[in-house]
Amino acid sequence: MSAQVLDGKILAAKIKDSLRSEVEKLKKEFNKVPTMVNIVIGDDHGTCAYAKSQEKVAEYIGINYELKTVTEDVGQEQLEALVRDLNSDADVNGILIHKPVPEHIDYGSVANHIDIIKDLEGINIANIGKMVLGETKIVPCTPASIMEHIKSTGVNMRGKEAVIVGSSSIVGKPLCLLLLREFATVTVCHIGTSEAGKLEEHVKNADILIVAVGIASLIKGDLIKEGAIVIDVGINRSDNGIVGDVEYAVAKEKASYITPVPGGVGPVTVVMLMKNAIEAFKAQL
Ligand code: NDP
Repeated sequence: MSAQVLDGKILAAKIKDSLRSEVEKLKKEFNKVPTMVNIVIGDDHGTCAYAKSQEKVAEYIGINYELKTVTEDVGQEQLEALVRDLNSDADVNGILIHKPVPEHIDYGSVANHIDIIKDLEGINIANIGKMVLGETKIVPCTPASIMEHIKSTGVNMRGKEAVIVGSSSIVGKPLCLLLLREFATVTVCHIGTSEAGKLEEHVKNADILIVAVGIASLIKGDLIKEGAIVIDVGINRSDNGIVGDVEYAVAKEKASYITPVPGGVGPVTVVMLMKNAIEAFKAQL
């Protein structure tokens, strides 16, 4: 069996079109569209290129996208004051802080200054609490992208063994909550699991496997359960270009669905940011 490839560009295009229609409808009804502001610190080339690609997606959907660039030496208080200003600006519906931030900036603290209703990445501590309770539609973008990929297969997650490898606050932990909402049985593996020599047995048991670690080919393809859904979040530079955390060629022969790297989770992640901007806008109407 060779897996069906979950093409992120195709899925992203589909979701973009549906969000574009939603914004058109909102515009007709309320005569305004969502406005989001991305705070960028410094003028790093990579950061600017990524912001440009976000801007293109926003433009397509019909969302106003504004960049607020501040210099690299911006102070913590100055940055938090900027966030507070944007919180109180009724024309701004959503805020995000572009990462990475310089070392002298406490990212978590700045994020917690974002008004919960304008927190586009769902990283504000209050939003995370609401997510635990299933009370918010704004969820962190990468886990949201992963869920869109799984849903796109049409496979019912209820009762399935979902195994997440990687337990970071931006991917593994919030994803665990989203999978629980779908009544999957969730196992979260991390460095302790590997140290205990237990990683392989969990991976072999997964009906749905999500890997977000950042180690090329950490998951050997022959461990994949026959017919599993495999979502590879990892981004690793190698001699063969960018590769994921799963040994793709071998895994593809065992899985039923698999995401490629690049071109899987990534393209949908940016669209999820736009979805959050629309949710934030609707909550503020
Ligand atoms: P982090 O470094 O924050 O987290 C990595 C996780 O992997 C941690 O939970 C860590 O465990 C765990 N881990 C490390 N080594 C092992 C091991 N040998 N066995 C099992 N678990 C291990 O990374 P992120 O979550 O930020 O990102 C993970 C990957 O996903 C990266 O490659 C990143 O580039 C990519 N990424 C891709 C995105 C996309 O949109 N496509 C978005 C975000 C990330 P512990 O904490 O216990 O050490």
